[in-house]
Amino acid sequence: MKTTIERVCQERGLAVEDLLSGSHAWELVAARRLVAHELRERSLSLPAIGRILHRHHTSILYLLRVPARQVKFQCARQPCTGCGNALPAERPELREVGLCDACLIRMHDAMAAEAQLQ
Ligand SMILES: [Zn+2]
Repeated sequence: MKTTIERVCQERGLAVEDLLSGSHAWELVAARRLVAHELRERSLSLPAIGRILHRHHTSILYLLRVPARQVKFQCARQPCTGCGNALPAERPELREVGLCDACLIRMHDAMAAEAQLQ
């Protein structure tokens, strides 16, 4: 039988060792939140969840502060390939290019500066 961590990682295309690492990449934090919520629903204690996720129980408390429903929404959101922030759901054109407004402007400015040098 797969563990909750293995299943959540498989569903999201993440590696178990990354989930258990210290990385704060948005998709890893979101996946940890889902695991924490699921284990909490099964009445596991905070220290028990902490041992499973290789984290202090206060970190688990912090993970659980964001409601599961919001996490699922967050996971469904595509991150900007430039900065990693979630792209606004109401801007399909940004989702298509995979960049947020700030990164698009930065890229545009960089290209303009480069064009001036030539
Ligand atoms: Zn960005």
